Amino acid sequence: MPVRAIRPRWYWDGREAHSAPVLGITAGGQFEDPSGLPVEDVDGIVLPGLVNAHTHLEVGPAPRPDQRGFLPWLRALQAAGGAYTGGDPERFLGPARSRAAQMHAAGTAVVGDISNTGLTAAVIREAGMTGLCFHERIGIDVPTHPVLPDTIPVPHAVYSTHPDWISECADRSVSSDLTPWCIHVDEDPFEAEFLRGEGPWPGILRAFGRDLADFRYPHLTPVAYLDVQTRLRGAILVHCVCTGPADLDLIASRNATICLCVRSNLWIGGRLPDVQGMVDRGVRLVVGTDSLASSPDLDVLAELAAIRKAVPTLSAERLLRMATSSGFDALTLAGDGLRSRPNAAAPLLLVRGPTDLDELLNGTVWPRSWLGTLASGDPT
Ligand SMILES: [Zn+2]
Repeated sequence: MPVRAIRPRWYWDGREAHSAPVLGITAGGQFEDPSGLPVEDVDGIVLPGLVNAHTHLEVGPAPRPDQRGFLPWLRALQAAGGAYTGGDPERFLGPARSRAAQMHAAGTAVVGDISNTGLTAAVIREAGMTGLCFHERIGIDVPTHPVLPDTIPVPHAVYSTHPDWISECADRSVSSDLTPWCIHVDEDPFEAEFLRGEGPWPGILRAFGRDLADFRYPHLTPVAYLDVQTRLRGAILVHCVCTGPADLDLIASRNATICLCVRSNLWIGGRLPDVQGMVDRGVRLVVGTDSLASSPDLDVLAELAAIRKAVPTLSAERLLRMATSSGFDALTLAGDGLRSRPNAAAPLLLVRGPTDLDELLNGTVWPRSWLGTLASGDPT
């Protein structure tokens, strides 16, 4: 296979940066020995394809409500018919395919997708990416659900999912050699209130026809409640906007992962998670865009730029790890995870223009191309 020797300004290997390395790249985008080949200088940064650890490919844009907060946002999404609740899945899978293609063109190679149809594993593959289809189920009064092939079953959130189902999803994760599972947690203060039998959720759930007669309010924080149910084994905890110091200690002690989606948090609730507190405790952090109903796009580099703006003390290296090695590790864990999926070798991405990692995360940087394409075309 023909090999080209290129010298980008920087190569980010997923964990650290290398200045002006000479990389031998095959037409398939794999590394080869570049010895003896003429070296072409390339104006840009090479890095592994990005990992979007939390998105909802099926969910479309929804108008922004006048009021901030999760409940106004949820009502706006429901009024817009933006999420699948049964019926015709193709109406949601068609747009999901074009979103997946755009996501891949923007440099994402690996996806953790929250699916309500349970059918997006093929959507991810067809777009040239690898990833996991987390099939999200709801029902505070539904203790178990059927599991579809090619999916990882997951609960939605503590107020919307039966405790037995939360435990079952985590048990499946452990029994399958620690495949990851995920749950939205501490996105909004009403979650903690619900677990004390307070706030709006009990009334809303009853209005939806849900039976809360058997639900025992645990009077624990959402993270502590999940810990009782699952020990947080294999868990990717999405959002953690309202998570306090004691629960962050618990998450760190359990080696669970937190997925940040700060543009979504700012859009919905106007508040940020304690990212610095997570970093200080050594919690593994990954990044997701959430859905188009709360984010302007599904672009991981734009999400990293937003985290950087919100938490300027974070280094470019730490941010890039979230979207490369940490993301990949979280979706793989100890088990087969991503490794058994097609296209699992992370392809290499070239982002042209930026002279260093700080510029790469300064905003949204284009153009981007896959190095398999580069090897057969003109890189400059
Ligand atoms: Zn989400």
